[in-house]
Amino acid sequence: MARRTAAASQPDAHARSAANDAASRIAAWQRRAGRHGLPWQQTRDPYRIWLSEIMLQQTQAATVVPYYERFLDLFPTVVDLADAAQDAVLHAWAGLGYYARARNLHRCAQVLRDAHGGRFPATAEELARLPGIGPSTAAAIAAFAYGERAPILDGNVRRVLSRYFAVEGDPTAARTLQRLWAHAQALIDAAPAALDMAAYTQGQMDLGATVCTRTRPDCARCPLEADCRARIEGRQDALPSPRARRAQPLRHCWMLIAECKGRVLLERRPDAGIWGGLWSLPQFEDTGALQAACAGLATAGSPQAMAAIDHVFTHFRLRIQPCLLKLPGTVLVPAEPGRAWVPIGTLDAYGMPAPVARLLAGLYPGKLPPR
Ligand code: SF4
Repeated sequence: MARRTAAASQPDAHARSAANDAASRIAAWQRRAGRHGLPWQQTRDPYRIWLSEIMLQQTQAATVVPYYERFLDLFPTVVDLADAAQDAVLHAWAGLGYYARARNLHRCAQVLRDAHGGRFPATAEELARLPGIGPSTAAAIAAFAYGERAPILDGNVRRVLSRYFAVEGDPTAARTLQRLWAHAQALIDAAPAALDMAAYTQGQMDLGATVCTRTRPDCARCPLEADCRARIEGRQDALPSPRARRAQPLRHCWMLIAECKGRVLLERRPDAGIWGGLWSLPQFEDTGALQAACAGLATAGSPQAMAAIDHVFTHFRLRIQPCLLKLPGTVLVPAEPGRAWVPIGTLDAYGMPAPVARLLAGLYPGKLPPR
């Protein structure tokens, strides 16, 4: 785990003295001024905490709340989640994005059911061995559920610590991360044994989300103001250092919207790869493959190109060229394995990638929830 191996990179003496009571100040600030009404803060049940932590990765709390509540209605326990069909899990997740999180959530629930008797392990180290649980998420679950003194380092905390300790370098680069983990560990090591780990962990998250924000941090409200190096040196805007620019390649694909008798042809994406397990439109790498597929569906008529749309992934941009083929026949050509003719009125029951859902919502207004 990154935070364990980070011990090799010890913070300097200045950092250690600065860290002396910082954790206690953050915990006290959280109790006084942090966020308190979020539904996952009212529990020490590791299942609920885990669910919220996975949903909160890359998604804001206000967006997560209705998804969290719906998930608990549908899957009240980790075993209920493990027993559910993957389609049901992906559908409940639809709209939150980053679908690998939902697939890992489901897989993790099955591992917990099959190998752990439906119980969560009680330490961050063991939690981090489960699918989809990284070291920071494992530490957050262990701190909230069991009070373990384990450091977290999510995106918000990286920003706070980069400023507080004036850590230079791309905050996602391995060397910078190693230094930040070491600082995060040092803050806990310097704190008293009675440190309230739930308040401290929540406090770091709240500080990054509401005070030490990406732009215009509100230092006057911050419990770290007195000894924050970025604040003292007036470098809040310069830290964290900008990420190293990486060229983002542009990829192309063609998608077929085949419509016949009030139905649309959907295709289930393979489990591995982007949008794994979701229902999407038949997708092709070039127009030749698209034309060949159309020829297999219709003896007359050709697909009409629609406006192309771009979708941005972490490492590349995907330009999607949608093509609409309205089949005049009254008989549905049997769908190949992995495909299905779906009544337009039931499209909202299928978990779909966001750009595909938006595309179909534009074509068939009122048939899919707004995204
Ligand atoms: S003093 Fe300002 S820059 Fe430093 S941690 Fe607090 S909010 Fe962030």
